[in-house]
Formats: sequence, structure tokens, C-alpha cells
Amino acid sequence: MNLMLSAKNELALLIVLFVLSACSSVNKTATSGHFSTVLIDAGHGGKDSGGTSGLHNPLFIREKDVTLDTARRVQAILKRAGLHTVMVRDGDYFVELDNRVALANRLGSGTVLVSIHYNATGSAAPKGVQTFFWHANSHGLATRIQSRVVEATGETNVGVTRRRLRLTRNPEIPCVLCECAYLTNPNELVKVADSNYRQKIAEGIAAGILEQYRIGDSGTSPVPEIWAPLSRAQDGRSF
Ligand SMILES: [Zn+2]
Repeated sequence: MNLMLSAKNELALLIVLFVLSACSSVNKTATSGHFSTVLIDAGHGGKDSGGTSGLHNPLFIREKDVTLDTARRVQAILKRAGLHTVMVRDGDYFVELDNRVALANRLGSGTVLVSIHYNATGSAAPKGVQTFFWHANSHGLATRIQSRVVEATGETNVGVTRRRLRLTRNPEIPCVLCECAYLTNPNELVKVADSNYRQKIAEGIAAGILEQYRIGDSGTSPVPEIWAPLSRAQDGRSF
């Protein structure tokens, strides 16, 4: 009897040890990206509509509406996956770019910033997905989001672009800005108007973030850090 009990106890102990070691290895992998919070930035808002599909287009879409919709979808997926999320805005109101940067810096290390935008130009031809980054520590995240959004949507891969913008240069945490599609391209506009397509975009963005969360920069090519002065309002681009 005693022998049996002790055998049982030993087995229980082994199971506990196994579970503990499994947990610790999961944790190690899970923290490779060195973040647990995602600051999701829906571009524009309030008085700033961002780009539009064009006033004369029968299908009139404002960038600020689809960025918020996409951001909410990304948040829902990340929350289900157990990540902590913070929304820069969760409604139709304006937040200054510098305040978005300040919020990112207040959250600080352990957070990454993902800014969601839709592109618009004066011509109907440009199309595709493009992700911007500036700091070397943001290249892996940009690469993963870019390839996952292209994979999820089947859209043209414009690529990952290193550009000094207020939301890629100024935050002190890893930060990227994704231009998910062109509102001025007739084919992409019709797709973006469909909530199923925005869900696909959101799934791509979230998949890229979760991949970075799990394995960090592993497998992505490193880039050197480049110093540049802070990006200012008078430098131009409105994001
Ligand atoms: Zn924008």
C-alpha cells in the first residue's frame, strides 16, 4: 500500500515537473519578441479623414473609418491570443501625431506600436501593401507584418520600406506603419469596402505580430541602425 502510494506520488511529482518545464520553455519562446503589449494605432480620426477614395467616387470611403475598423479587428484577434492591447483611439476623434508618439513612449519597453493606414494618391494605378519602419529593432516586425498581410490578401507586395516618419522615427519602442491597400485603386477600393476583406487584412497584421511575439527577429535579415533627427510636423508626411 505504502509502496503504491509512493509510486503514485512519484508519478504525480514527475507530471508536475514535466508541466513546469513545458511551461517554462513555452514562456521562453513566447517572450522572444520581448514584448507583451501591442499599441494599435488607427491612423487619422476626427477632423482628419486621411485619404479618401475621391469625392466623385460612388463608393466613398474615408481612411479614418477603415483604419479604425481594421484596428478593432486586429485588437480582437490579439486579445483572443492572450496579448495585452492598447488602442491609440477607439472612436472617431483626432489624436495629434506627437501625442501618439508620447503614448508609445509612456508605455515604454515591452510594447510595440503598429500603425494602420490606407493609401491614397491622385492616380488610380498604384496598388498593393507596403510597411514602413525606421529603427533596426522594428525591421523584423515590419517584415513579418508585410509578408503576412500579402499572404492573407493575395495583394501586390510593394515591400518593406525604411522611411523616417513621425511614427517610425520618434517612438522609443519598436514601431511600424502598414499601408494596407490603396483607396484610390478601383479594384482595391471594392475589396476594402467589404468587411470580409478588412478581416483578412487584420488577420495578416495580427499573424505578423504574433509571429514576432513568438520568435522575435529569428530568420529575418538584420539591418544597421541609422541615426536621424526626430521627424517634425514641417517635414511633411501626415503620419
Ligand atoms: Zn494615412
